[in-house]
Amino acid sequence: QHNAAANPLAQFVQGPRGAALDAYWMPFTANRQFKKNPRLFVKAQGMHYWTDEGRQVLDAVAGLWCVNAGHNRPKIVQAIQQQAAEMDYAPPFQMAHPKAFELADKVAKLTPAGLNKVFFTNSGSESVETALKMALAYHKVRGEGTRTRLIGRERGYHGVNFGGISVGGMVANRKQFGAMVSGVDHIVHTHDPKRNAFSMGQPEHGAELADDLERLVALHDASTIAAVIVEPVAGSTGVLVPPKGYLNRLREICDKHGILLIFDEVITGWGRTGNPFGAQTFGVTPDIIVMAKGLSNGAVPMGGVAVKQHIHDAFMNGPEHLIEFFHGYTYSSHPLACAAALGTLETYADEGLLTRAGELSAYFAQAVHGLRGEPNVIDIRNIGLVAGIELSPIAGSPAKRAFDIFLDCYEKGVLIRTTGDTLALSPPLIIERSHIDQIIDTVRGAIRRHAA
Ligand code: PMP
Repeated sequence: QHNAAANPLAQFVQGPRGAALDAYWMPFTANRQFKKNPRLFVKAQGMHYWTDEGRQVLDAVAGLWCVNAGHNRPKIVQAIQQQAAEMDYAPPFQMAHPKAFELADKVAKLTPAGLNKVFFTNSGSESVETALKMALAYHKVRGEGTRTRLIGRERGYHGVNFGGISVGGMVANRKQFGAMVSGVDHIVHTHDPKRNAFSMGQPEHGAELADDLERLVALHDASTIAAVIVEPVAGSTGVLVPPKGYLNRLREICDKHGILLIFDEVITGWGRTGNPFGAQTFGVTPDIIVMAKGLSNGAVPMGGVAVKQHIHDAFMNGPEHLIEFFHGYTYSSHPLACAAALGTLETYADEGLLTRAGELSAYFAQAVHGLRGEPNVIDIRNIGLVAGIELSPIAGSPAKRAFDIFLDCYEKGVLIRTTGDTLALSPPLIIERSHIDQIIDTVRGAIRRHAA
C-alpha cells in the first residue's frame, strides 16, 4: 500500500486540500468544480495509479488512451534516465542525433507497407497540423497548388490546434474561438444507433456513408481538395467503430480523385485494435498516419507522422527552393522522447503487446456487452481493447449521468473516461482478464447506482 505521508505532493494536499490548487489553470477542466473534489494521482505502476490519499485505482483508460504498455515500465524508465544523463537535448534542424534515425526506422517497420518516412512532433495535435501542412505542401510542390481544401468528418477529434479544430467536428471545441481555418468541409459521421446499436466489432451498416465524400467532390471539384482526415475509430467523440467496408470505400474515392487519405491514429495506433495500427486491422492503407500517445507510452510527450515514400520524394524531387519542408518544432525528435519511445517499442515487442488487444478482444467484448440491459444503457460499441458504453442522458443535463458514473467508479477504485454521455474504456494492453472483470463489475455497480 502506498504511504500517503511519504508522497511528494503532501505539502499541497495536507491541510485545507484546495488551498494550493489555485495557480494551475487546468486543461479541459473547470477549476472551480475540480477544487470541490480534487482527484490527484501521485504514483503509478503497471495497471494502477495511487491517489495522494494512498488509494489504489485501476486504470481502465491507459491514462488518457496513451499508456498502452502500462505504467512505469522498467525499460522505458531506464531509457529515459540514461538519456537524461547522457545528452539532454540536440537541435533537430540541420542537426540530429542517432536515436531519431533508429526510432524512425523502427516505427516505419511497424506501419503499413509503403509508409516509410517518419516526422516527429510532441503531441497528437502537432502531428495533425504537421500532416495537414504536409498534404498542402505536397500538392503544391508537385504543381497542383489548387488543391488547398481539407476535408474532415463530423464528430472527428484531431486535437486542439487551429487546423485540428477546423477539420474536427466537435462544436464545443470550436465555438469559443471564432473563425476557423478556411477552405475546410466535413463528411457525415458514421454513428447510426438506429441500424447499428450494440454491434460487436465493426457495425454491419453504413459503408455507403463514405459516399458523402463524392458529394463534396461534386460541390468543390476534386482539383481543389488536398486531403481527407478521419480517425479509423473516432475515440474522443464516443468510440465510433467504422462500419464494414466504410474505410475501403473512402480509400477508393480518394484514389479516384487524387485526394490524400490521412488516418489520425493517435488512439488507434500502437496496438489498441489488435495490430500496430488500425490501418492494418481494417485492411486499408492511408497515405499518411498521424500518431502520438502510445508511441512513447505517454512517458515523454511525443507524436509522429508517417507518410508514403512518394510524398517525401515529391519534396526531394521538387524545385531547389522547395525541397525543404518548412515546418518543425524545437522539440521534434527530442532525445528523451526518442529514448522513451525506443524503450516503449522494445517493451511492446518483448511482451507481444501490439497484438494482445486482438487476443483479448473476444473476452473484452463479451464482458462489455454484458452491460447491455443495465439501466439507461442505449448502445455499446467495441473493437480490440477499446469500448464505448452510451447512456441515455438525464433530461436537460447532457453528460451529467456519465460524469456522475465516472466519479462513482473513481471512488470505487477504477479510472474510466467519459465523452458526452458515453463511458469510454481503453485499458493498458497488459490488462488481465481479472482486471476486465473488475472494471465491468465496477461500471455495472455505478450504472445501477445512477439508474434514476
Ligand atoms: N487526434 C486524436 C484522434 C486524439 O484522440 C487526440 C487526443 N485524444 C489528438 C489528436 C490530440 O492529441 P494531443 O492531446 O496529444 O495533442
